[in-house]
Amino acid sequence: MEVILSKELGFCSGVRMALKKLDEVIETHKEEKIYSIGELIHNNEVIKQYEERGIRVVEKIEEIKDGIGVVRAHGLPISVIEKARKNGYKIIDATCPFVRNISRIIEKEIAEGSKIFLIGEPEHPEVIASSFDYRDYVEIIDFHNFIPQKFENLKKCAIISQTTLEDDKFIEIATSFVKKCNDVHIYNTICPAAKNRQKSAIEVAKKVDLMIVLGGQKSSNTRRLYEVCNKFTKTIHIERITEAEKSLFENVKKVGITAGTSTPDWIIKEAVNYLEKL
Ligand code: SF4
Repeated sequence: MEVILSKELGFCSGVRMALKKLDEVIETHKEEKIYSIGELIHNNEVIKQYEERGIRVVEKIEEIKDGIGVVRAHGLPISVIEKARKNGYKIIDATCPFVRNISRIIEKEIAEGSKIFLIGEPEHPEVIASSFDYRDYVEIIDFHNFIPQKFENLKKCAIISQTTLEDDKFIEIATSFVKKCNDVHIYNTICPAAKNRQKSAIEVAKKVDLMIVLGGQKSSNTRRLYEVCNKFTKTIHIERITEAEKSLFENVKKVGITAGTSTPDWIIKEAVNYLEKL
């Protein structure tokens, strides 16, 4: 079977940085307990490997008894980290700079007196990390259920995107605000990794009979890859190729592969090796 790999796929800079920080902590603090606050990245296989090396995943900082906590790539609110450090917790912050950039933009727009709208998934850790400290000023709009009529009489507003949104979706929502408000500041804060992966996945999806999106089910950017590819061809979202039924490949001559930003290289290679033998 012909296999076409997306040009841009797999680990992004934020994920690489978070894993590097965790590896450094493991290397330099061999005698201490090490915790990941939230899953460091959204990939079960990677998390399993770190758990086997003794890393414990906790949901809240308070669950850390002693030792060091490493903040996930999607981050925690700055105030939460500062408070924990004041209370004596040892915290390494591995929040991706693209997530922190959203908080800086929010601060700037608050100072300018704008009404701020953050477009994304309200429950996503990244959205919470970037906006929680400014919750009195920011309204989070769930991009799945955007109702333009709900937003009227706006004098000055700022529209900001979650880092993993689909470009076209963000532009569509931002444009509807331009029609309602004379002074709109639009920040397309979709990160380059998410954008590039979507763009090159679409190029592949247009050429194949079946598209495989490899990545964690909780991974937002992987879900977006699934959604954009599914517009062009039959698409499945799985964590590993071993989950795919063989019958799926009947009558498939060309298959495409892309992978979310938390998917390690070995999972991509495993899929390529398997499919090339079919
Ligand atoms: S997808 Fe983008 S924002 Fe998320 S961790 Fe990677 S580089 Fe950072």
